[in-house]
Amino acid sequence: MNENEIIEKVLKDIDKLFPKKCSCCGVVFENFLDFIEKTDIPVHAFDANFMVMHLHNVYDILALRNCKCKTTIALPCAIDPEFKKEIVLFLENEAKKLNIPTEKMAGLLRDKIIKIARDRSE
Ligand SMILES: [Zn+2]
Repeated sequence: MNENEIIEKVLKDIDKLFPKKCSCCGVVFENFLDFIEKTDIPVHAFDANFMVMHLHNVYDILALRNCKCKTTIALPCAIDPEFKKEIVLFLENEAKKLNIPTEKMAGLLRDKIIKIARDRSE
């Protein structure tokens, strides 16, 4: 998969997660963009908040954001295990090409996904 295909599928998968509710304060996020607008990137995780987790051979790709109530909300960006692997491979390959850490590459992809979601809403 190339970058555009990955971005399109992530956006499509993320869409299925909404509406979503903060389990702490109960605020409702209508869609991905609403979620982005109402939450912030946790300061301590600025470069790594689009995380690729590798746990018991199950890849999980999470975006962490802080709700206004300070609760950290994890948004899984890929649900299908095969697609998770595709994203991990893509991030590893691109990071190698650019000679940057995989987390940094994940951050770049995150920023692109958010930018595209914003551009489309205008
Ligand atoms: Zn909250």
